[in-house]
Amino acid sequence: MPKNLFPLDNSKKFTNQKHVGHNRWHPDIPANVTVKPGEVFRADCREWFDGAIKNDDSADDIRNAPLAGVHVLSGPFRVEGAEPGDLLIVDILEIDSCDQEDSGPISGMGWGYTGVFANKNGGGFLTERFPDAYKVIWDFNGDVATSRHIPECSYVGIHHPGLMGTAPSAELLARWTKRETALIATDPYRVPPLALPPLPDSAILGSLKGADFERVAREAARTAPPRENGGNQDIKNLTAGSRVFYPVFVSGANLSFGDLHFSQGDGEITFCGAIEMGGFMDLRVDLIKGGMEKYGVRENAIFMPGLRDPQYSEWIAFSGVSVDSKGKQHYLDSWLAYQNACNHAIDYLMKFGYTDIQAYMILGTAPVEGRLSGVVDIPNACSTIYIPRSIFDFDIRPSATGKPHQVKQGMQVPRSAN
Ligand code: ZN
Repeated sequence: MPKNLFPLDNSKKFTNQKHVGHNRWHPDIPANVTVKPGEVFRADCREWFDGAIKNDDSADDIRNAPLAGVHVLSGPFRVEGAEPGDLLIVDILEIDSCDQEDSGPISGMGWGYTGVFANKNGGGFLTERFPDAYKVIWDFNGDVATSRHIPECSYVGIHHPGLMGTAPSAELLARWTKRETALIATDPYRVPPLALPPLPDSAILGSLKGADFERVAREAARTAPPRENGGNQDIKNLTAGSRVFYPVFVSGANLSFGDLHFSQGDGEITFCGAIEMGGFMDLRVDLIKGGMEKYGVRENAIFMPGLRDPQYSEWIAFSGVSVDSKGKQHYLDSWLAYQNACNHAIDYLMKFGYTDIQAYMILGTAPVEGRLSGVVDIPNACSTIYIPRSIFDFDIRPSATGKPHQVKQGMQVPRSAN
């Protein structure tokens, strides 16, 4: 087992650990650990809410989810010799869950959760249809996830970090703040908001103290959006065996990561989101000096996805086009078309006896494939969502002679009104 350079005790809050990580992006958050190019190491990660979500049958904790405190990230890891313009190679060697009730990572004994935020607390991709808060608990049996809240469905998870990235330079951070603040100004009272401005409340900034802490808390970027440094990209295919190349913006690169997922569908449409878990990653880092210029890599990560995927090869897929619920035509809007494809799939699954929220939770967490099937045929974008057929314990296909199997409902998905 590689040396654990960032051990976390799951019985303690994130701010009481040996190494205190961070939950904002800023170039002045000091590195916690230094690693050398070529070095292999392990790091623990808390799930993104630092233990606020419980393994029970109430969604009140999701309704009241402390969003100002996310994401709790392990790091920063300073990589010796890294300079702006380099590419940081990160190999994900292993990633697994731990028992969040217990101390230390214990492979294969964990559980995880998926939430849908209430409309007033961030919402989700289909927040018009699901304005309340919901929660589903998943049990991990090796690599397979099952839930007492969703009958007759199980699947192989594809573990990945939802969030990983390098620290921004001061110049890049200023660009983020400028453009996101300008967006918010176009509709400042929107619910949910258009973006999240810097927020000193609940900021965790590693070992920073005093006046430096106050300044960085005011300036630092929130971790919710993916940006040029990688960040919260929620790419489900960053499984073990993946190699990611991050642009380096500051001396030492200052790599950080967290928000581990047991499994997720493309788009993380439920927003809270995937199957969220605590756990660990084994990583190897290396450098390509001057790699950004050498390979024409823009300010955004490139990657080679992992080799460890579930063996799903048969799908049922749903399509949608860019027309909204009021019948208005939109121009090549793939986001809207994907919403329609997802709503389409939910309607279909409900014919098999699932509730709408059970179907939504399946689409957010099972290894479904979302695709931009057409983006040029004016005026309609066509987006599609592919669901693996064998995740269901019954035949999900339409047939001319049979009728839809009806799942046997047990415990419903916990809901907490907005
Ligand atoms: Zn997540």
